Amino acid sequence: MQSLLSRRLVRFVNFTLLFTAVLAISSHVGSPQLFGDVLEYVAPVVWPQPPIIQPGTAGSPPSDAIVLFDGKDLSAFKGGEDWKIKDGYAITDKHDIDTKQAFGDCQIHVEWATPEKVEGRGQGRGNSGVYIMGLYEIQVLDSYNNDTYYDGQAAGVYKQHPPMVNACRKPGEWQTYDILWEGPKFDAQGKLLKPAYVTILHNGVVVQNHFELTGGTSWTEKPHYTAHPDKLPLRLQYHYNQTRFRNIWIREIKDIVGKPGNNPHHPD
Ligand code: MG
Repeated sequence: MQSLLSRRLVRFVNFTLLFTAVLAISSHVGSPQLFGDVLEYVAPVVWPQPPIIQPGTAGSPPSDAIVLFDGKDLSAFKGGEDWKIKDGYAITDKHDIDTKQAFGDCQIHVEWATPEKVEGRGQGRGNSGVYIMGLYEIQVLDSYNNDTYYDGQAAGVYKQHPPMVNACRKPGEWQTYDILWEGPKFDAQGKLLKPAYVTILHNGVVVQNHFELTGGTSWTEKPHYTAHPDKLPLRLQYHYNQTRFRNIWIREIKDIVGKPGNNPHHPD
């Protein structure tokens, strides 16, 4: 009995390995394979090869990123010379700074740290911000044991949506934002065709999951959209606190587009 079970197990494993191998080969080649009386499904699309990039190791950008700040200077930003650079990081000062280049749909990586010496409270403690397209603020704040309105704490979409969890590290410790941004789209008459969406990982934790923005993030106005170009500069905020930034990079998100394929596939 035991040996019969063993033989069946071996046959099952062999079948699984063979089936997996056939799938692996056929999905690369793109022509449907017959396995017994089972015909593989092949999508009616010919995909280009996804570009090969080198992902970053801890603390370094991937090979196709546009590096906005590598610890040396803020020349990628208008007015960046007014922020202090020290030991590979930048300290907010005097005014907001905007990138010289404009960006639309993108992936943004930012590392930041609020002052180790805790001063002020609420919105006055380590406040800065990542203003995507210069209009949509992802709040930067010391939110470690610091009460404020929830949609104004760190990783909040300012005045629109709090983070799902508070993943803030202690004051003085370096923190990361990894942001996926889909900008709003407008027609030629300025009518909103598609709202903006944002997904954010704060210190590797999902805190905003494809959140739909209802407009720009203002301290005084109800959120609303005003038509703007598909690409605008990224802004970092100066909010009278000495917040530090390092290792800032951005990748424009471009969908991969296939061509119609002629290979047989399962009919609809
Ligand atoms: Mg702010």
